[in-house]
Amino acid sequence: MNLPASRSLFLHFAITLIDTAQMRILIVEDEHRMAELLRKGLYEHGYTVMTACDGETGLQMATAHELDSIVLDIGLPKMNGYQLIQALRAGGCRTPVLMLTARDTEDEIIRGLDLGADDYLTKPFSFPELVARLQSITRNHREMGDGRIKAGDLVLDPARRLVTRADESVELTRLEYQLLLCLVRAAGQCVPRQALMECVWGADSTVGPTALDVLVNALRAKLDAPFRKKLIGTVRGSGYFFKRVADAGKAAR
Ligand code: CA
Repeated sequence: MNLPASRSLFLHFAITLIDTAQMRILIVEDEHRMAELLRKGLYEHGYTVMTACDGETGLQMATAHELDSIVLDIGLPKMNGYQLIQALRAGGCRTPVLMLTARDTEDEIIRGLDLGADDYLTKPFSFPELVARLQSITRNHREMGDGRIKAGDLVLDPARRLVTRADESVELTRLEYQLLLCLVRAAGQCVPRQALMECVWGADSTVGPTALDVLVNALRAKLDAPFRKKLIGTVRGSGYFFKRVADAGKAAR
């Protein structure tokens, strides 16, 4: 993962607010008929749709535009879908990605999800299913109109510093709350340990690295322990991440 200088790490992960009701979708698909079918169908559902027919163009468009989600074919010329997701996430872009695979092999799907895709569909698929998946991956990580942040069954209210999970209030300390906010705003990406420590204690703090692990454990005990789906994941030696909803049901990493 390419990371900017540590001082700006947290800004690098800051959430992009999109307050338009209209969803902007990028379709990256080299098969012209399929791309056109998707474009028309999504347009009729009220989406603003852009298309790219190779991986390089797709990456350029994905980084140049504010998008609500990306529909990404895996088999693409110039740069395949895996390479595109990898480049996107390495550059700090966390736009939800729904990948389309031609073969329903577990290895391909796991690889895509590991690289940062949010969900997948195997061709052929039904259009209503595509729309439902897109709505799910975008809705779950959109900031709500009143400023609250919703991520699956978790809701954060930054104005009042309140957290609920499955409609139950979760009482957090100031530091636990700050840690959670930092993770949720970068949902789906590993936030490096240094960035988390800066976010919680400030750039000039002298707290030791174990303080972060202690704080993560405390947060997990309140936020994850009572629930089957675990939301906070570990990347050993690197940092922690808040799981996107599509990943939260899978075994804890
Ligand atoms: Ca293809």
